[in-house]
Amino acid sequence: MPFALNEGRRAGNLRLMKFLSVLLACLAFFADTARADFINGRSYVSLTGWARANGFGGFTQDGGTEFVLTKGASRLVFDKDSADASINGVEVRLAFPVAKGGFISQLDLDKTIRPLVFPQKPSAKKVTVICLDPGHGGKDTGYRVGTFFKRNEKTYTLALALELRQQLMRAGFGVMLTRDKDVYPELAWRPDMANRKGADLFVSLHFNSFPPDPGRVQGPETYCITPVGAASSNDSEGAGAGSHAYPANRLEDKSLLLAYQVHRALVKNLGVCDRSVRRARFEVLRTAEMPAILIEGGYLSHPIEGKKIFDAGYRQQMAAAIVKGILAYQKLTSPPPPTASATTTNRVSTSRRHH
Ligand SMILES: [Zn+2]
Repeated sequence: MPFALNEGRRAGNLRLMKFLSVLLACLAFFADTARADFINGRSYVSLTGWARANGFGGFTQDGGTEFVLTKGASRLVFDKDSADASINGVEVRLAFPVAKGGFISQLDLDKTIRPLVFPQKPSAKKVTVICLDPGHGGKDTGYRVGTFFKRNEKTYTLALALELRQQLMRAGFGVMLTRDKDVYPELAWRPDMANRKGADLFVSLHFNSFPPDPGRVQGPETYCITPVGAASSNDSEGAGAGSHAYPANRLEDKSLLLAYQVHRALVKNLGVCDRSVRRARFEVLRTAEMPAILIEGGYLSHPIEGKKIFDAGYRQQMAAAIVKGILAYQKLTSPPPPTASATTTNRVSTSRRHH
């Protein structure tokens, strides 16, 4: 018994010390007053001020290079001089790096943080029909890996799409494909088909490759349209130049939420490296009139991940994760059932009559 008491007291002291150290870190964090500023001609806001205005607590760690904001189960982590953020345990690439002293661009607050941290307006219509786009096809092989026996990306994007179609249909969704065999539909035609046929979501499926150093890079990346005025995650590769608005920008908040939920499901269910939710003005995303994402399901070039992607069992698991992500998105954005509001209205009018 006394042993247990001592243990309890020691644990209590440890808890108190931990609490005090967190409190001190919080005080230091909040001592920096909220300021807005311009960095490289861009509007930046202090994370401290934003946290206070939105009911978040905060502290710094790693010698002041990491900023952590918390509220209930929410935990946002930002790194100084870096665009890599973690939003509730999932990596999300910001449009602009967080600046010294804990400043974040106003654009990222509006276009990256807010759509993921706060509830969004429900969609006008519940997600029921999904357009899947198996990347490449026909004359366009996509990435080719292997020394003697070449494996083509287009083969595995189609295999994944066919598996995913089955699983989505089992979950009750309608599914259309931009191709169901080895042919090449033009890039712009793919989202146009989804528009014409009234799909509720557009999901393009790809796999990645990094030939210079195959052993170094692995894990999925999930893309959605870049917000107006921001640089894409892949600008260094020369894709998706320009920063003006495309039709897809109308639904960019919903697309980001879809990318986040699908990416989260992939990373958590497959136990793979988190290569982050990213933005790009890919041709297959630009003209989509519904929430649209592009999944790079992993690296064909990686010696271990590549082998997994070539395996039908692993693709089944990947498809199952994507279904979970889509269901999570559907749950967060479905409009309330019409009967519920009708009942409320009736109740209000009835009670008014009685009083
Ligand atoms: Zn591809």
